[in-house]
Amino acid sequence: MKTLGLIGGMSWESTAEYYRLLNELTRDRLGGLHSARLVLHSVDFAEIEQLQAAGRWEEAGTVLAGAARSLEAAGAELLLLCTNTMHKVAGHVEAAVSVPLLHLADATADAVRAAGLRRVGLLGTAFTMEQDFYRGRLASGGLDVLVPDAESRALVHRVIYEELCVGAVREQSRAEYRRVIEDLVAAGAEGIVLGCTEIELLVRPQDSPVPVFPTARLHAEAAVAAALADH
Ligand code: GLU
Repeated sequence: MKTLGLIGGMSWESTAEYYRLLNELTRDRLGGLHSARLVLHSVDFAEIEQLQAAGRWEEAGTVLAGAARSLEAAGAELLLLCTNTMHKVAGHVEAAVSVPLLHLADATADAVRAAGLRRVGLLGTAFTMEQDFYRGRLASGGLDVLVPDAESRALVHRVIYEELCVGAVREQSRAEYRRVIEDLVAAGAEGIVLGCTEIELLVRPQDSPVPVFPTARLHAEAAVAAALADH
């Protein structure tokens, strides 16, 4: 079993979910008392969020590169960056270490293709929905990506930072997300990528008329498959 290295804390609400999923999936595969071998480097999200909002991505990349180096030094053999948004600086992380990074957009695109779908709606932070680092990577993975209109993008973004990242799961926000999902489906989406690792705490499969792709779970599944590949 390979030792996984998690760069987490963005936010810890979803990192806690990663920890649970990685252990559950390992137990499901190996049985008994087996659990995941992993090291976690959890950052202070307030510092990262300030850098995001100020567009200081180079500095954020330097922080995460340092986290990656500490995980490699602690024995990690495969790294997971436990946030879609911070894959904007995936290159900084990859350049800092000699162990591989399991890219979240690749794990997601693989799962969508395996489901036989191609055209997806993408929900996430404004950075993820509007910039190319994530949409482009999904497109390179063979997907057609639709995003909500500007007003809905602002709503989806606000709920992530003001509610989900601080542990608030509200019925009203779930209803609003359902409406955004319905609009994406009306525009042709065959599936919905929950492209922020906290969204799956709010949106359940039954909240969408088409399949949802929960990225924290898909990332954890891909990581356990890779960690146990030689098993
Ligand atoms: N966890 C989120 C994501 O997957 C948002 C928090 C962040 O900005 O890193 O994008």
